[in-house]
Amino acid sequence: MSGGARAPTLPAMRPLVMIPGPIEVDDAVVAALGRSPKSHLDPEILETFGRALDRLKDVFLAPRGQPFVVAGSGTLAMEMAVANLVEAGDRAVVVDIGYFGARMATILERHGASVTRVSAKPGAVPSSAEVAAALDAAPCKLLAITHVDTSTAARADVAALAHLGHERGALVVVDGVCSVGGEELRQEEWHVDVALTASQKAIGAPPGLALLVASERAVEAWRARKTKVGSYYADFGEWLPIMQAYAARKPMYFATPAVNLVEALDTSLGLLLAEGMESRFRTHAHTARAFRAAWKALELRPVPTTEAASANTLSALYYPQGVGPTLVGAVRAEGVVVAGGLHAELGPKYFRVGHMGLCRPADVLATVGAIERALAKLGHAPQAMGAAVAAAEAVLAAEG
Ligand code: PMP
Repeated sequence: MSGGARAPTLPAMRPLVMIPGPIEVDDAVVAALGRSPKSHLDPEILETFGRALDRLKDVFLAPRGQPFVVAGSGTLAMEMAVANLVEAGDRAVVVDIGYFGARMATILERHGASVTRVSAKPGAVPSSAEVAAALDAAPCKLLAITHVDTSTAARADVAALAHLGHERGALVVVDGVCSVGGEELRQEEWHVDVALTASQKAIGAPPGLALLVASERAVEAWRARKTKVGSYYADFGEWLPIMQAYAARKPMYFATPAVNLVEALDTSLGLLLAEGMESRFRTHAHTARAFRAAWKALELRPVPTTEAASANTLSALYYPQGVGPTLVGAVRAEGVVVAGGLHAELGPKYFRVGHMGLCRPADVLATVGAIERALAKLGHAPQAMGAAVAAAEAVLAAEG
């Protein structure tokens, strides 16, 4: 070699994706995607699809629920819930804890509902008394709750709020896009009529599938409609026979399912259930505690205003004084992808780190280290470099 020693150029490494969805997925899930698509009526797909539906009931803890798996994103799952349960003139109450609560209100209004929003400041959740008062103000058909609002990392107390709605006869819809598979959610026990999510979150598959589980009560409410569902593709009437056919391992067609994604979903649900739901809830809580210890060491202020209202599936953190959205790029340069802000009011003041699904202790440490180094490069070196990693490590090493 001439010209003296030079550091060898390393091939660019794939960064670690730590945004609140899409998330890192298991190799077995990726492998399920890399095959030539089978017929949607192939006996193997009938088995895989049917098993995925069975598994969804286990993940949602809804043994008597009716699962729906439809190609689309989480927003389609939201719209399916609304389109099938609401008729023009129905009143709905939305527990609005951020960007996605506002989206739910918009979808409800689009389908003719009159909406009362019970809102909270960014990072906070409304009290049970406020929600009860809104429910009691006039007859209410539907109560919508965002379990974790991904824009603020605030978490609503679904068990308590669903109880309020249920005892007043409202249908309870939970947007669990940023919670199902990570946060404790017991659909049947908590009287949740529709719980919904998307494949790219804690479920652990790539984006592309809307996932929804309806209670018997929700299906009855859809059957009792006086008017047609205002969306053809989202109509339970089209999908229910298909889901029932797949559950019975029988062929039936309405619209071509995303067969590769269904195979990937079945694989990810199998991995999730092999761990078990109770362990899943504990692991997410443990991981979140490790991150919170690191944020404290880095003196990063969380957006959620209380510990009880803090999600286990992601963190939202205000930038320190003098640091703005450039931090996201600086962290990316350290090999980890985190997300900027999403909440209209908070906009560029904060960033978000996803920690749901496949988030191993090594990923926690890599992420905290990358943020620590990026802050230091932007002139915000912590008092003791490595203290945040050590704080996370101490929690990870302790019993979960
Ligand atoms: N609700 C919540 C809580 C979400 O986090 C998201 C996605 N980030 C959605 C709904 C919408 O899902 P999608 O982007 O898959 O349409």
